[in-house]
Amino acid sequence: MTNPSFQPYDNPRVTGGADPCRGRVRWSPGQSLFVCIMYGGAITGLVFATPGAVALFLASSAITLCLGHSLGMHRRLIHKSYTCPKRLEAMLVYLGTLVGMGGPYTMTHTHDLRDWAQRQPACHDFFAHRQPMLKDWWWQLHCRIELDEPPQIDSKTGVANPHFYQWLNDYARVQQIPWAMLFFVIGGLPWLLWGVCMRVAVSLTGHWLVGYFAHNQGGRHFYIAGAAVQGFDVRGCGLITFGECWHNNHHAYPGSAKLGLFPGQADPGWWVLVWAARRGWVKDIRLPKDLPPRPELMPAACAPGSYCAASTGRGV
Ligand SMILES: [Zn+2]
Ligand SMILES: [Zn+2]
Repeated sequence: MTNPSFQPYDNPRVTGGADPCRGRVRWSPGQSLFVCIMYGGAITGLVFATPGAVALFLASSAITLCLGHSLGMHRRLIHKSYTCPKRLEAMLVYLGTLVGMGGPYTMTHTHDLRDWAQRQPACHDFFAHRQPMLKDWWWQLHCRIELDEPPQIDSKTGVANPHFYQWLNDYARVQQIPWAMLFFVIGGLPWLLWGVCMRVAVSLTGHWLVGYFAHNQGGRHFYIAGAAVQGFDVRGCGLITFGECWHNNHHAYPGSAKLGLFPGQADPGWWVLVWAARRGWVKDIRLPKDLPPRPELMPAACAPGSYCAASTGRGV
């Protein structure tokens, strides 16, 4: 059965009428075991903390989250919000894989499925982070969703480095091993636990936490009419999320390379991009003004229950 209220969708990777509501959340043993090992290593790391290990954790987290996850995976591979040489993209995507959430095709598929579902008039609680926090944590870190009628998502066509990305995707978790060995040789057990387990555990938990709040509460400037799930800005988290917390802006302008659009919205990922653009390493940076107009995009005042909605009937 095709969902009769299927929304027009501007992501060419996603096709086919589908149902974002009906399906079940299933335990994913491999993912769950990986998360448990990382959590176990992180807790053990608390006993073996050294200044060097903590410094390694901070530096490696910043590099993998900012350059890898935000700039490589999210703003470049998934949203194509700027262009760069193939080798630079491959390096950034490799760093993004080290975050521990999956390889390039897994990340693209997970992102596209959630984004598509959130923009439909209704969707499963899994996509909306609608359940209590502990249950949502279990769902997002240890499980996957199986929709009865999923859309087709083509994560592979047109990517810059298909063979490398396929290999990276197939061996995403294995990528931690050479770094674990290197850190162990240099700094012993504390470096291994903090440079790999603590970094991955904190990155996964932080990513889930930001996703949870960014779809439930916070400030906003924009409202997407007809979408089941709205994005919100998670205030005070600009620096530690490298700009990814300005999620209301991202729902409004998914193709924008700049996430912090308003005064006071720190966006370190954007600062790095501007720095790289000055050196000619990245080009064709897209901003909200470069994106096609979206009729469903409205000021936040048009959200249901607001003055605008009450007076014009729009956005209800
Ligand atoms: Zn979102
Ligand atoms: Zn996105």
